[in-house]
Amino acid sequence: MRTIGMLGGMSWVSSAEYYRLANEVVRERLGGLHSARLVMASVDFADIEELQMSGRWEDAGRLLADEARKVEAAGADLLLICTNTMHKVADQVQAAVDIPLLHLADTTAAAVTAAELSTVGLLGTAFTMEQDYYRDRLASHGLTVLVPPAADRAEVHRIIYDELCLNVMSAESRRTYRRVIAGMVDAGAEGVILGCTEIELLVGAADSPVPVFPTTRLHVAAAVDAVLRPVP
Ligand code: GLU
Repeated sequence: MRTIGMLGGMSWVSSAEYYRLANEVVRERLGGLHSARLVMASVDFADIEELQMSGRWEDAGRLLADEARKVEAAGADLLLICTNTMHKVADQVQAAVDIPLLHLADTTAAAVTAAELSTVGLLGTAFTMEQDYYRDRLASHGLTVLVPPAADRAEVHRIIYDELCLNVMSAESRRTYRRVIAGMVDAGAEGVILGCTEIELLVGAADSPVPVFPTTRLHVAAAVDAVLRPVP
């Protein structure tokens, strides 16, 4: 087994899930006392959020590139950025290291395609739902991406930063997400991407009339596949 590298802390709530799932998936695949070999750098999310909100993506990319170098130096064989949003700077991070970056939009798109769906609703931060970096990457896999209307996007975004990233899971917010998912399904979504790494802690398959694609779980499964694959 090779070593998974993770850029975490965005937020720690989903990073804890990445850590737990990586160990569980390795155990499922190998049995016994097997657990994941991994290295995680965990940043202070307040620093990242400040850079996001002030549009200083280049600086955020530099910060994550520095962390990625440390993860590589610590022995990681591949790299995960444990947040959909910060894939906005994925190219900058990849350029800083020699190990491959496993892009979250690619692992998600592969699961949607394997389910033979092509039109998907996307839930995530406003950055992820509204900007090109994530939607275009999904579209490059042949997917048509729908997002909620503006007022719903604002509420989905607010819940991520004010609640989910603080490990607050409320019944009211679950109801909101269910309503927003139903709206996207009415608009033609055949599946829904839970495109923020905390969302799958709030809602899951039972909250949606169509299949959901939990990006954290899918990202981890793809990473475990990669580190267990025999080296050619
Ligand atoms: N974890 C979230 C995501 O997947 C949001 C936190 C962030 O802005 O990085 O997008």
